[in-house]
Amino acid sequence: MTTTNHITVENKKEKAMDDMPGMGTNRTNPFRSLAGSPNCKVYAKPGGRCQSLQDAIDRASSIAIVGHNNPDGDAVGATQALYQYLLNSGKNAKVIYPNHFAQNLAWMDLHQSSINYQDHPDEIKTVMQGCDLLFVMDFNRVSRTESMAPVLKEKDCVRIMIDHHLEPEWQDFDLAYSDTTVSSTCELLYRVIHAELNPDLIDSHVSNCLYAGISTDTGSFSYSCRHKEIFEAIADLISRGLDTVKVHQNIFDNFSESRMRLLGCCLGDRLIVKPEYNTAYMYLSDADMQKYNYQAGDTEGIVNYGLSIAGIYFAAFFTQRNNRIRMSFRSQGDIDVNIFAKENFGGGGHKNASGGTSYESLEATLAKFEAALPAFYEKSIRPAVESLKKTGYNPGLPTETTEHTEK
Ligand code: 5GP
Ligand code: MN
Repeated sequence: MTTTNHITVENKKEKAMDDMPGMGTNRTNPFRSLAGSPNCKVYAKPGGRCQSLQDAIDRASSIAIVGHNNPDGDAVGATQALYQYLLNSGKNAKVIYPNHFAQNLAWMDLHQSSINYQDHPDEIKTVMQGCDLLFVMDFNRVSRTESMAPVLKEKDCVRIMIDHHLEPEWQDFDLAYSDTTVSSTCELLYRVIHAELNPDLIDSHVSNCLYAGISTDTGSFSYSCRHKEIFEAIADLISRGLDTVKVHQNIFDNFSESRMRLLGCCLGDRLIVKPEYNTAYMYLSDADMQKYNYQAGDTEGIVNYGLSIAGIYFAAFFTQRNNRIRMSFRSQGDIDVNIFAKENFGGGGHKNASGGTSYESLEATLAKFEAALPAFYEKSIRPAVESLKKTGYNPGLPTETTEHTEK
């Protein structure tokens, strides 16, 4: 996700392409653009096995489509939309995830045919051995599939990436579509289908899956959605059978009671507000997760509640699972949480949404986070908030903070 507007400056784009590693000015430039999407860079490996997406699909006899670890609405939406698109074009494929997706995303797996590596490692190894075309959706580097990464790394076949994260590892792919200015991989996939495949094969299920990714990766259209193209795409999807109300109900009105109580615990007892740094964070310990019967996906979106407090522009969320701490960072304006995640925790993501993993204790991780705040405030938060004020955004300040009590 990014909040970058769609600015089309052709010469800047070409400069950026020339700056990519290995792009000497005398070499053939392996980048081209996607028709109708000037911010999308398409990388075709020089001398690679595939220069055209349609050709790669036509030639394939066995296709695997992979989403990232802890697949979110965009990863499940993009993989299932592509799967249904391929079925509609007479091709069969297998959708693979490193681990489980949340129960409120299950409707997208219409044929209940996807498999996850956590439960079926051997079956997935067999599928991968037989496949001659691999799609990597909604992640920029193979390591984002965690324990499944070695299986992907060693797979020698035509490899295609469609993704919107920063700093994609182009060299690992024969063909890669990357646009860091779109809301989501689903929005990018919609454009790719229109520019290089057959939009007539987008049926109601493909439309619903694409919309699911777009709406979840924009926080239900609250960020990364200033560009008109996103709404033009949705208007077109409605004409192809998209039911916006049904998708919203399936995803956002489909939580378990225990997930709602887990959210209550976060907001009531695990929220720390630091008005002096325009920052709020929440955390959940292993014990909290057990108490509220944590299921995959239950913590999705909780980090955003920090940003809904007046005067808070940087929000963090820490969850303890299996002796490691998963971190989510969210921000507004020019506060670059991708850099914060990278510099302090070896993580990454986008400017306004990033994450990382800590292998220290929860207490040590929270202490490290608090220790990093003053410098990040001076470098990024304060200038960004000042510039938000200048643009008439008029950020408020929290009027009171409640004493936090450990339960
Ligand atoms: P989330 O907070 O939803 O888990 O992740 C927010 C964004 O940051 C996602 O787009 C995700 O791809 C990215 N992200 C999360 N964790 C990591 C990480 O450990 N490394 C990198 N490079 N990106 C991450
Ligand atoms: Mn995404």
